[in-house]
Amino acid sequence: MVLTDKLGRTVNYLRLSVTDRCNLRCMYCVTKDFQFIPHPNILRYEEMLRLIDIASTMNIGKLRLTGGEPFARKGFMDFISNVMVQHPEMDLRITTNGTLIEPLVPDLKKLGVSRLNISLDTLDRATFKEVTGRDHLEDVLSTIHACLSAGIRIKINAVAMKGINDNELNSFIDFARENPLDLRFIEFMPMGDDTKSDSRFWSADDILEQGRKYAVLKKIQVKKENHGPARMYSIEGGKGRLGLISPVSSHFCSTCNRLRITSDGNLRTCLFSDRTYRLRNILRSPALGDDALRKVIAAATRDKPLGYHLLEQRSGCKGVCETQMSAIGG
Ligand code: SAM
Repeated sequence: MVLTDKLGRTVNYLRLSVTDRCNLRCMYCVTKDFQFIPHPNILRYEEMLRLIDIASTMNIGKLRLTGGEPFARKGFMDFISNVMVQHPEMDLRITTNGTLIEPLVPDLKKLGVSRLNISLDTLDRATFKEVTGRDHLEDVLSTIHACLSAGIRIKINAVAMKGINDNELNSFIDFARENPLDLRFIEFMPMGDDTKSDSRFWSADDILEQGRKYAVLKKIQVKKENHGPARMYSIEGGKGRLGLISPVSSHFCSTCNRLRITSDGNLRTCLFSDRTYRLRNILRSPALGDDALRKVIAAATRDKPLGYHLLEQRSGCKGVCETQMSAIGG
């Protein structure tokens, strides 16, 4: 079974949030009044595995585990291992803040994890504390170096924010010049009252223009399955590359191939839509089997919206959607 929507888009990529808990409090991700999802509502790992089993029968070939902070959930390493054993065909990716995993790097390597996305919005300790509420910059940097030494490929995700990290572009480019990794800036998406600020928006085009003052950047063609919607640039004389992801200024809705499932089992077909399809009750109903889940997933996918239309309608609203990113998984 192949998942397609009314607009002819094929969906083959699932982002699964394993927890909404996180040890950081990033300013762009959590709102002041956020509330954790009650524990009983969080899917058990077996339930998540069942969803992955089902997804794999629906042509989903790429799976990203995210959060919250996925490594903050107990048993996450075993979960990765189970997913890898039961679904060796799945292109498995993980997004982490990198603060908790330096000691786990050898085990991750042994499990066969060959790449990680690590969020890092600043190379400055004080700014790191300001952005995340915690003093963990050194831990993240140690993790990055440990991964690179172990042969785990790294993509850095930095949320681009004027007045916060726009003065660090030169340092970031130096970092990517010296290290064999992909450094990708993601345009800031307002997510609610506390995160909304037009003055904070730093567009991908501005980053590119500024970046060209510090380095010779040449556009390179990359595979969509590896880089999603990122535009990638080589840095002359550098080991790493620069990437730009522009969900706001230059949407990529027409080629969107994603579904998201939150840790409490809500299926979301578009980051910019608050419409959710509740899978948890179906998962937990003894009377309903896998086919019931397949039906809901297929029907939801058919109605997958064009996010930029929703964004246009939301102009003047608090954010791009009503749910905070820490609960959706980015
Ligand atoms: N804890 C993990 C981490 O820090 O990478 C995974 C969860 S985090 C929600 C996933 C991604 O969402 C991160 O790369 C983060 O940069 C991105 N993100 C969160 N809020 C965002 C926002 N308002 N605008 C743009 N990107 C955002």
